[in-house]
Amino acid sequence: MYDIIIIGAGVSGASVARELSRYRAKICVLEKEEDVCSGTSKANSAIIHAGYDAAEGSLMAKLNVEGNQLMPQLSQELDFPFRQRGSFVACVNMEDMPMLQELYERGVKNGVQGLEIITEKERFMAMEPNLLAETVAVLYAPTAGIVCPFHLNIAMAENAYTNGVEFKLETTVEAISKTERGWALETNKGVFECRYVVNAAGVYADRFHNMVSKTKIHITPRRGDYCLLDKSCGNHVSRTIFALPGKYGKGILVTPTVHGNLLVGPTAIDIEDKEATATTRAGLDELISKAGMTIRDIPLRQVITSFSGLRAHEDNHDFIIGEAADAPGFIDCAGIESPGLTSAPAIGRMVAGILQEKLDLLPNPDFVGTRKGLLDPEALSKEERMALIRENPAYGNMICRCEMITEGEILDAIRRPLGARSLDGIKRRTRAGMGRCQAGFCSPRTMEILHRECGIPMMEITKSGGDSRLVVGTNKDAF
Ligand SMILES: Cc1cc2nc3c(=O)[nH]c(=O)nc-3n(C[C@H](O)[C@H](O)[C@H](O)COP(=O)(O)OP(=O)(O)OC[C@H]3O[C@@H](n4cnc5c(N)ncnc54)[C@H](O)[C@@H]3O)c2cc1C
Repeated sequence: MYDIIIIGAGVSGASVARELSRYRAKICVLEKEEDVCSGTSKANSAIIHAGYDAAEGSLMAKLNVEGNQLMPQLSQELDFPFRQRGSFVACVNMEDMPMLQELYERGVKNGVQGLEIITEKERFMAMEPNLLAETVAVLYAPTAGIVCPFHLNIAMAENAYTNGVEFKLETTVEAISKTERGWALETNKGVFECRYVVNAAGVYADRFHNMVSKTKIHITPRRGDYCLLDKSCGNHVSRTIFALPGKYGKGILVTPTVHGNLLVGPTAIDIEDKEATATTRAGLDELISKAGMTIRDIPLRQVITSFSGLRAHEDNHDFIIGEAADAPGFIDCAGIESPGLTSAPAIGRMVAGILQEKLDLLPNPDFVGTRKGLLDPEALSKEERMALIRENPAYGNMICRCEMITEGEILDAIRRPLGARSLDGIKRRTRAGMGRCQAGFCSPRTMEILHRECGIPMMEITKSGGDSRLVVGTNKDAF
């Protein structure tokens, strides 16, 4: 019997788990995929939004601004990449100026610090020389930033795990029913019982809410397609550039990533299928046609991959966080669409606060709030790197040539708490396979390391769990 079970190990579930691990309680996270950060949290724009977008007075606005404020310290505590480079909303038509002004005013009301409308062309062009020549003004938000979405999610999960939270991966919740003492969650791995449930199931959160409550909610998966460009284009812009929603519809953003690539996207396409994360020709065509709305000469020939993510869009377009009115003990964390990544630290605090009060939880005296990220040899001086290789020669064995990732880093990704067990798990932790060749060179070598370290037969190694096996037979089998 657990005190609390959290459904979903995305950024929301991981943040709730970490915040709850500050208290003495028996907590478990159930995740249907083979790794944490396998849902929407792995495929988004990775922007830490300033907070001027969400409607004044909404929970979204409140948690966005709070999450934005918590991010710098959290990135220090949990050692994940975050850069507070600021953002622009570019206005390219005089007639759209009232909309820019509206965003500014909403931001001020939401509590966003440092917002400014810059109309001096010389100034904004000096800050972003690739803005379109017709740009008339920009809304500058210095508190916006960019983050590594994988590392944010993984860092919070690792820290929760180290502080005693259990994680059961490849465990799909199929049904929830009320018991005398709380809840029974039926899964493919048996029944789990708990006093309180946190529903952080992303696009599936409506399914679980509707199982226990008469007040129904409805989540539409809203797909966003992206193109990721090579690192050679990473300096095309210095900060995130948003388009003002205007006569061309919802805009496409252009942003550097924390790893030095350029990201262009997303589209916004409502679909039915909660698993349909494949990009489509139509989606990418739309993206490319809108890509130049704010920034000139985007080098689209340098695209190295495309991907898409699904926003968990609830009909009322606000976060639903709290105990379901007619299902005591069932805490929703639903409708967490953008800015969910930004808000995650605040979401975790809010849910943990609710549960602390309900369960009268006492502080965990052994809680350790810090965590060390993967050792990055690139961050070392030449002398330090040589010493590292002498001490551990695996850091001298280059596995991914595009991203310059060594065997030492891959071993670290496998051996650390909640370590990687698939190619994607290693990719998200180390970047091996994320470069220009998109894992063409390093996949077999990474698979050999996984096989050797974890004892997984080569035929059983997967890209991302389930039936995504990479080796389906040997050449000789064919004869
Ligand atoms: C295109 C796009 C762009 C975005 N850009 C930004 C941005 O720039 N900035 C920002 O702040 N936010 C952004 N977001 C929003 C942000 O990515 C999400 O709000 C956030 O990742 C949601 O996290 P989550 O943990 O709630 O959901 P998820 O990450 O989807 O996690 C839910 C987890 O629940 C698991 N699960 C589901 N069903 C079950 C089950 N039956 N049993 C067990 N486990 C289950 C899933 O496998 C998944 O791991 C964007 C989203 C999209 C799609």
